Amino acid sequence: MVSLNLQCSAEQKDTLLAALWEAGTQGVTEIDLPGNRAELRAFFESAVDDAEFAEFMPRWADEPEVDWAAETRAAWPALEVGTKWFVVPPWNEDATPPGRLRLVINPGVGFGTGRDLTTQLCLEALEREHRPGDRVLDFGTGSGILAFAAHSLGSPVFACDIDEEAVRAAKLDLPAEIGLFTGSIRSVKDQCIDLLLANLNAETITNHAAEIRRVLKPGGRVIISGVPPRHGERVVKALTANRLPPRETVEAGIWLRIVC
Ligand code: SAH
Repeated sequence: MVSLNLQCSAEQKDTLLAALWEAGTQGVTEIDLPGNRAELRAFFESAVDDAEFAEFMPRWADEPEVDWAAETRAAWPALEVGTKWFVVPPWNEDATPPGRLRLVINPGVGFGTGRDLTTQLCLEALEREHRPGDRVLDFGTGSGILAFAAHSLGSPVFACDIDEEAVRAAKLDLPAEIGLFTGSIRSVKDQCIDLLLANLNAETITNHAAEIRRVLKPGGRVIISGVPPRHGERVVKALTANRLPPRETVEAGIWLRIVC
């Protein structure tokens, strides 16, 4: 692979980009330079005739071949979370360590690759709070990672998200038994959930505290993450006002985990 580096004025950029595409470039990066100028770096499989670019100070450079498949694999190594979880992307072939459950998550569309602390806080609490046979709701499922985890503990699981794209992507990857739907907690029946997982922001939790109470069975439990400590008091107040007094509030870095 080679690149053709050109310098132009900001006004010439669009015309030059069109000419580079016309010349068969595979991709162009742009850097804004001082003085209303720009540098374009156009990638080609091999050098092409650059006569038409003579006025833009053409400079060719060799570009090292990048194995994008290998780069992507290296960027998503397997991850151990808590004592139970082994989070991997679909192409990972590492053996699952004994005693751990494999969560195969495609780091694509939905939030929740397992690398975020808020997700990890939920996964850690899930392994502790989960009881056999619990009906679980993952409120704001994103990639579906928490739903997948609860399912792998043997639970019937329901999961919702208002982001249609995320739900569509999660459907492709999650076990079919998980009841995944586009929408909010409002579509869930009264008093049918034993354990609710909600990795959402403070405002969403506060606004939905009554809904969380409504869907929980008496004695149902809730694991919440995604709330920064400065909003903790507001969230705890809303939960307590809805008969969900926290049993545990843990501060981890810039996040709180609240368990009711
Ligand atoms: N559960 C995943 C993803 C958390 S990100 C994890 O723990 O990693 C939060 C997700 O909640 C996003 O996908 C967002 O689209 C969704 N969300 C936000 N508000 C929502 C609401 N009112 N109802 C359902 N989903 C919501």
